[in-house]
Amino acid sequence: ADLRHIRNFAIIAHIDHGKSTLADRLIQLCGGLSDREMKDQVLDSMDIERERGITIKAQAVRLSYQAKDGVTYELNLMDTPGHVDFAYEVSRSLAACEGSLLVVDASQGVEAQTLANVYQAIEAAHEIVPVLNKVDLPAADVPRVKEQIEDVIGIDASEAVEISAKTGLGVPNVLEALVQRLPAPEGNIDGPLQAMLVDSWYDSYLGVIILIRVKHGRIKRGMKIRMMQTGAVHQVDKVGVFTPKMVETGELHAGQMGFLMAGIKTVADTQVGDTITDDAKPALQPLPGFKPSIPVVWCGLFPIDSSEYEHLRDSLAKLRLNDSSFDFAPENSAALGFGFRCGFLGLLHMEIIQERLDREFDLDLITTAPSVVYRMHMTNGDVKELHNPADFPDPVKIATIEEPWVKATIMVPDDYLGNILALCTERRGEQVELTYVGNRAMVVYRLPLNEIVFDFYDRLKSISKGYASFDYEVEGYTEGDLVKVSILVNAEPVDALAFMAHRSQAEYRGRQICERLKDLIPKHLFKIPIQAAIGGKVIARETIAAMRKDVTAKCYGGDISRKRKLLDKQKEGKKRMRQFGKVEIPQTAFIQALRMG
Ligand code: GDP
Ligand code: MG
Repeated sequence: ADLRHIRNFAIIAHIDHGKSTLADRLIQLCGGLSDREMKDQVLDSMDIERERGITIKAQAVRLSYQAKDGVTYELNLMDTPGHVDFAYEVSRSLAACEGSLLVVDASQGVEAQTLANVYQAIEAAHEIVPVLNKVDLPAADVPRVKEQIEDVIGIDASEAVEISAKTGLGVPNVLEALVQRLPAPEGNIDGPLQAMLVDSWYDSYLGVIILIRVKHGRIKRGMKIRMMQTGAVHQVDKVGVFTPKMVETGELHAGQMGFLMAGIKTVADTQVGDTITDDAKPALQPLPGFKPSIPVVWCGLFPIDSSEYEHLRDSLAKLRLNDSSFDFAPENSAALGFGFRCGFLGLLHMEIIQERLDREFDLDLITTAPSVVYRMHMTNGDVKELHNPADFPDPVKIATIEEPWVKATIMVPDDYLGNILALCTERRGEQVELTYVGNRAMVVYRLPLNEIVFDFYDRLKSISKGYASFDYEVEGYTEGDLVKVSILVNAEPVDALAFMAHRSQAEYRGRQICERLKDLIPKHLFKIPIQAAIGGKVIARETIAAMRKDVTAKCYGGDISRKRKLLDKQKEGKKRMRQFGKVEIPQTAFIQALRMG
């Protein structure tokens, strides 16, 4: 084992700049897979990822590369997710490597996530090799993008590798650059085992699989390992690497990364960032850990058919095995019955989980409006976290309320700058900075997280014709004039429809929901008032007029089978109704009333 012949690297890029295409090329060049085995994008393995063109799970692939100096190097490639919601997963992937390939689309230039990712790489003390991709495109402007990299990021781009990941042009030079320019890992192969737990996921055939980076010592099949944080002890069944096929090696040593399996039943035992050591000869200290990821957006998930509750619970537990950054706890709603309050890293993360519950587990769900976590300072000095507007305490006991704010960086061509500034202002944004990178404006804003979780990203894309790029990081909590808006149907509050808002926006949003509900709730034999209220004060009101006619009246004298069908349908619909006092609300009304934007 010679550490000098190992290189561990990550590929970082703005979305669509060609990270996955390059990774596939590297795998192909190093012979990890035959052409036949080469699917078009090997690393984006999940269907949803493939469809959305994003990479969620970081994965490590070992490549074997014979360099021009005649030596065969072991290159460990760490794929990183490319979306803002998963910035945390980027940081832990970077912690397992010594260097990064910074891929920039030469026809687009530096974008918001290029910056966010590269700053994380610099923070992780990485050696960075700039790679200009898509040079086959007529719009590629290599000198301009090199200048951008130097001016904006401040790293030397004179030796940037120019490639087309699509045609393969220049890609071998990337491999040479890795070997020559990135440092080899350092570590003591004969010391006590210290391995970083980079990621873990659940495979229905193999059980829990753990991705590790060994910093010191060796990990072998049969060894008893201890998780230093949780204290759990397990015997190692399998150790190996992805090529990207799973190949058992029986051992991994300092400087290497790969997988291990140890008959682990639950990912609660496998905390990301934990240090794995030898139970017989433990290390004295864990490796410096990284902070756990914290869900920032919460919403309720309820089965439409209440008999699916257990199935939902099991499915959530299965998904959580694969994704420790998502959280859930039972929730009980008068409107929606038994369900779960679930926490996500961001809106995309939330959509992905919902989509998987639908597709992989065949669950029909009602989702309540997403909410951020508010911090309530109570008059008695207590501080409470509010994950669910339904738990809003008695207002007289609240001294102040704080909400999370983010620092957002937006890059956009000058033509659309006006639209972007208007959007940020409308969302209570405070401008921090406005500078130019060539003909693109770079604006930095402070914004309340609550204002961007609903539809900010979609709006941003549509008002900039897709040209704006966006990235944000949570900055901290700030006090605000925040209120809970309740929705009352026939004077009964409906907890699932309650939401938190800034006072300046409470009326507008309250009115919006009332208007929607007016169309969504069927007429009854009596008038139904629909109201939005802050405490006891009504801020918006609509009324559903009383119904007079019998539903079957239209069919009178008509085809009897049609009449029966209508009655059957009505019965069917009943099952999907929820009773509120005297009013029945169809469950579809919740879904549609809560759909924002
Ligand atoms: P990622 O989001 O960074 O992983 O980007 P992908 O690798 O998925 O690439 C995004 C799109 O750019 C895909 O449609 C690729 O086919 C295309 N692409 C990637 N590299 C090149 C290249 O060198 N030239 C051209 N013309 N297109 C490329
Ligand atoms: Mg990708």
